[in-house]
Amino acid sequence: MTGLRIGVGYDVHAFAPGRRLVLGGVEIPHAQGLAGHSDADVLTHALMDAILGAMRAGDIGQHFPDTDERWRDAHSLDLLSKVGEAMRAGGWALVDADCVLVLEQPKVSAYRDGMREAMAAALGVGPDRVGLKATTTEGLGFTGRGEGAAAHAVVLLERVSP
Ligand code: MG
Repeated sequence: MTGLRIGVGYDVHAFAPGRRLVLGGVEIPHAQGLAGHSDADVLTHALMDAILGAMRAGDIGQHFPDTDERWRDAHSLDLLSKVGEAMRAGGWALVDADCVLVLEQPKVSAYRDGMREAMAAALGVGPDRVGLKATTTEGLGFTGRGEGAAAHAVVLLERVSP
């Protein structure tokens, strides 16, 4: 048994008019945003769930339930910071993370490094520890039809204290 644990996270949010589009903590200009109780930052949510998974600490629905008014319009980056604090308090350190953002529009390549830096800063690690790619689904499925966005994340945690 080593002190290494992996975690995977996945999230989906629907596009809705009149909402800001926040991805990886970065507001991106677009005609619509993602619907949700918080800022609906689908990418940050996937990363949070991956970390909680590696900690065997449940999921973001348990930690930040959408029935709780405290988290209404919450900045997901602030929630990611809380997950990072819980990770460190639990004796874990983030070795590495990698994410895939799945959406048809808008193009996000110009914002990629900003998203990596924002999520890494929330976790108190260097941006080299958070990878990010973006892809479309070639017009197929709910992401391809522009109905929503999805995100995947994987993390590796290392136990640094008992
Ligand atoms: Mg979510």
